[in-house]
Amino acid sequence: MLALEEASKTVLSSARQLDSERVNMAAAVGRVLAEDVISDIDVPQFDRSAMDGYACRRTDLANELSVIETIRAGCAPRETVGPNQCSKIMTGAMVPQGADCVVMVEQTEMQTATTVRFTGSQTKDNVRPRGEDIRAGEIVLRRGARIGPQHIAALATVGCTHPLVSRRPKVGVISTGDELVSPGEKPGCSQIRESNSHQLSAQVEQIGGIVTNYGIVADNRQDIDRVMRTSVINNDVVILSGGVSVGDYDYVPDVMREIGINVLFHTIAIKPGKPTVFGVCDDVCCFGLPGNPVASFVVFELLVKPFLFKMMGHHYRPAYACTPLASAIRRSETQRQSWIPVAITEDLTAEPLEYHGSADIRALADADGLISLDAGVAEIEKGTTVCVMLI
Ligand code: AMP
Ligand code: MG
Repeated sequence: MLALEEASKTVLSSARQLDSERVNMAAAVGRVLAEDVISDIDVPQFDRSAMDGYACRRTDLANELSVIETIRAGCAPRETVGPNQCSKIMTGAMVPQGADCVVMVEQTEMQTATTVRFTGSQTKDNVRPRGEDIRAGEIVLRRGARIGPQHIAALATVGCTHPLVSRRPKVGVISTGDELVSPGEKPGCSQIRESNSHQLSAQVEQIGGIVTNYGIVADNRQDIDRVMRTSVINNDVVILSGGVSVGDYDYVPDVMREIGINVLFHTIAIKPGKPTVFGVCDDVCCFGLPGNPVASFVVFELLVKPFLFKMMGHHYRPAYACTPLASAIRRSETQRQSWIPVAITEDLTAEPLEYHGSADIRALADADGLISLDAGVAEIEKGTTVCVMLI
């Protein structure tokens, strides 16, 4: 059985880079930059006051200073500050020639209508020098960065109103299983409500993919063949769930091969997620995920998500919280690496959840993250620092 690391390598090396497009900055959150963003200006573009106060010469701080003008933000100073002079200045305004510091208004006292005295014992410069944060021509955001709200100010400041970003991958999602009914229906005897296609769609959309949900397909070769062919033609990636294991009606791997998909692996040594199929056909990659919803979720997080990000040019690393384990974990079967749902408690420890296995959507819904036990590891003691992969 293939270790997760090997499976990841195979999957990632099959990811082809999508082309790019320009989008409005307002629609750029969640997208991956396809080129470096370079500043066209120094930031700040001029020596800029960090405080409301008085711009003056540090050597004059002990003296009474005459106020020669008031400088508003957005207005250039008209006067040069000379000995025993100062200019009243607002935060963000341009520091006048001659001045080398700004004293905070809170540390001053008016002496007459036109003179002021520094009342503090010391002051910082309170000047943000030109180019302190960014130099013209400097790279502000790198190609491959995923744009978050925290990047928007940088884009706006350097005038990048239409960043070049990777195209969003088109992802077809298919659920297979005779027992499945859609969530809006009441399951009959022996049926269950179908959840994977909706969960997978949400996972894909969360990272910026465009989903076509082909819904439920029965466990027969013709139907799977037909829907799979349609989705391979119309998408960059196809994700199936169910029907990938060794049951009598698990046709997905066979059908994948029949339609010309080169199956690169069929099982991975992880729990949940052992029956995971991956194959490539021309430009399209195809994942067959296990039917159980926790397994489908976990395999998406571990394999499909980094793959889709790589297609967009982004090197994805999950966020981890490393924290003590609140109670011990034990298991008897240690053949595979296993992933276990945990909650982060109020006091920031990792609490293993009551977990009944890969169908336990309740445990998944309560989880803040997953921790892994490597193959061969049967136990993690209470208090051990564990790294929780946040979900
Ligand atoms: P399979 O991989 O087809 O053997 O399915 C494994 C288990 O997952 C079975 O109990 C299925 O009923 C269940 N299952 C399969 N597909 C879905 C789905 N789309 N939503 C919820 N459960 C599913
Ligand atoms: Mg099935």
